Amino acid sequence: MLVKVSKSKRTRIIDVLNSDQFESTVVVKGWIRTKRDSKNVVFIAMNDGSVIRNLQVVVDAGSVSEEILDKITTGACISVTGKITASQGKGQAVEVLAQEIEVLGEADPEKFPLQPKRHSLEFLREIAHLRPRTNTFGAIFRIRHAMIIAVHQFFTEKGFLNVHTPIITASDAEGAGETFVVTNIDLEKPPRGDDGQIDYSKDFFGKKTNLTVSGQLEGELAALALSEIYTFGPSFRAENSNTSRHLSEFWMIEPEMAFYDLEDNMDLAEEFVKHLVKYAMEHCREDLAFLNKRAEDEDKNKKQEDRRPMSLLESLEFVGNHDFKRISYTEAIEILKNSKPNKKKRFQFLIEDWGADLQSEHERYLVEKHFKKPVIIYNYPANIKAFYMRVNEDGKTVAAMDVLFPGIGEIIGGSQREERYTRLVEKMEKTGIHVDDLQWYLDTRKFGTAPHSGFGLGFERFLQFVTGMNNIRDVIPFPRTPGNAEF
Ligand code: ATP
Ligand code: MN
Repeated sequence: MLVKVSKSKRTRIIDVLNSDQFESTVVVKGWIRTKRDSKNVVFIAMNDGSVIRNLQVVVDAGSVSEEILDKITTGACISVTGKITASQGKGQAVEVLAQEIEVLGEADPEKFPLQPKRHSLEFLREIAHLRPRTNTFGAIFRIRHAMIIAVHQFFTEKGFLNVHTPIITASDAEGAGETFVVTNIDLEKPPRGDDGQIDYSKDFFGKKTNLTVSGQLEGELAALALSEIYTFGPSFRAENSNTSRHLSEFWMIEPEMAFYDLEDNMDLAEEFVKHLVKYAMEHCREDLAFLNKRAEDEDKNKKQEDRRPMSLLESLEFVGNHDFKRISYTEAIEILKNSKPNKKKRFQFLIEDWGADLQSEHERYLVEKHFKKPVIIYNYPANIKAFYMRVNEDGKTVAAMDVLFPGIGEIIGGSQREERYTRLVEKMEKTGIHVDDLQWYLDTRKFGTAPHSGFGLGFERFLQFVTGMNNIRDVIPFPRTPGNAEF
């Protein structure tokens, strides 16, 4: 799309770079990446986040005062008025010949931490307030935005309604107890009952509340009225796992569908992630090409066996266009039991019996070594899965499914839900979930219950796959992890 440039209003750099309105005057604003002096002319590379490419601004000797030129340093913010010209240099087709430069914000070169060189991701995490100014994070955050749009587009086209589920809740959907308490009790002098315990009936909501771990239970209520819904909101988990795949605050997309069985659920999950991947390939080409190169460079410093089997772009293409492998948990256990790393005791957790929980090392073996494609495992043992999953005929498995991706492991967890009132109550009692606390949830099973299913896609885990970033902390602007809540 070509945008008409203006002499007085700011034009985004992406529109200048795509422009063919040579000799027109434009105003561009952005942050300086580099400045290069050469005989009688200064070259400035500037970026405003609209596109990964920088705009080259050419400043002829004498056209801008020495005082201003001195303030043109990496990191400073400038406004440039100049003429769009065909570039003489290689690397860009269009550049701007400066007529006037205004320095909007200086950046002391002695103190500005980002230098025009490659910084380590660890270092950039420490300056998460400035890392959006790098090529890598600019690309990641543009892709993140594109994926948000693709999520809403996918579900909207299918007639799903987006539902906002509460962030403050009194329930712990997973029953795992890894929640952050929300309170305004005076922590120095909490009200206590006769038993000495904190009396949460005196707290703000009259009961103990926490940040949501999942919008699923409320999503189910909505689906049992509106048929197809999805949520897209933050989830909070106080699991103390310092891994490259866990955040304490992450975003989850949770569709919930009345009248879907487990197979319909798997079909939707597969179609959904393929849609997102294809959308990225179509709409984020330049950013993906950059990240592809980045991943290749990163691999050069790795041992052969640690390198990616395919380039980032190849793996996106592959996932977007191949069927996922679907196997039951029982089949997965058989494969794992007889696998080389299990026999040679190279797994940290050896697989011995049916019933074992699958760890990320097992998931990745199945995906990366055995099937070499995304895998959906279904029908898990009931006692390693949540209370709301529908019990199968065999009585020992539930209609659960996990989608496993290369490099990451689980990115989706879902199930057909237990819609039968008595079975659900039995299960809650068995797993120690208070029926009284979830009366509202059980009501849907009492009044007009229906078969239904849903799943949760961890948005950042998915972004790890799309961007090729190894650490989940690098695909969210301001990561929250144990010990880290700065910025
Ligand atoms: P894991 O076993 O990897 O911790 P989980 O079984 O706890 O995952 P679910 O409760 O099924 O995950 O949540 C659904 C999805 O949410 C997961 O498939 C994953 O993509 C994402 N997810 C779960 N926990 C986290 C987390 N701490 N940080 C980021 N994403 C997460
Ligand atoms: Mn977890």
